[in-house]
Amino acid sequence: MIDSHPTSHSSSAYSCLCCDPSALKGASSRRGFLGLGAAALAGGMLAMTPGRSQAASGNYEAMLVNCIDPRFTTLSWQYMGLLHGIARDKLSDNYSQFVFAGGPIGAVHPKFAAWHNTFWDNLDITVSLHHIPRVVALTHRDCGAAKLAFGEAKVATKEDETHAHADALNAFRAAVNKRQPKLSVITGIMDLNGKVDLIG
Ligand SMILES: [Zn+2]
Repeated sequence: MIDSHPTSHSSSAYSCLCCDPSALKGASSRRGFLGLGAAALAGGMLAMTPGRSQAASGNYEAMLVNCIDPRFTTLSWQYMGLLHGIARDKLSDNYSQFVFAGGPIGAVHPKFAAWHNTFWDNLDITVSLHHIPRVVALTHRDCGAAKLAFGEAKVATKEDETHAHADALNAFRAAVNKRQPKLSVITGIMDLNGKVDLIG
């Protein structure tokens, strides 16, 4: 699975001054709880928020990196369940998720250079807090962010789209291997029906 594609990602020392992991445990403050309760009541959601036994840090399954496109929220969640062969209700709260336009394309493409450090810093945090063994990086067909990054002409046909996405996904894999060599990386392109063409 190792890929030798060159990447523009810098290996500069990780430094994150903005995130204190202990702050992640503060979500149970009274104010936060009341706010959540009001929102949950308004949406009739209380039945969907049972108590959790997992901690803010611990051993989790993966980090999913995917696009903000609303068409893929449920499909990507379903895919995670299928991917690991685990009942969805057990996996659903067992992976971290990083979502921005283009997903893994946003993490490596020069068009989105201003975003890169944010992603890599978040990856480091989920590795140290959640001890994840793998990253699942999904792009998707008909992606507006990919069209912005590559140009419409480079993704005009499905074959072109596959090549352009594969280049970005291979760069993503290489960058993860460099930054977090112990992680395995699963990369793929999700179709509009949820089917994933694995890359690499
Ligand atoms: Zn997209």
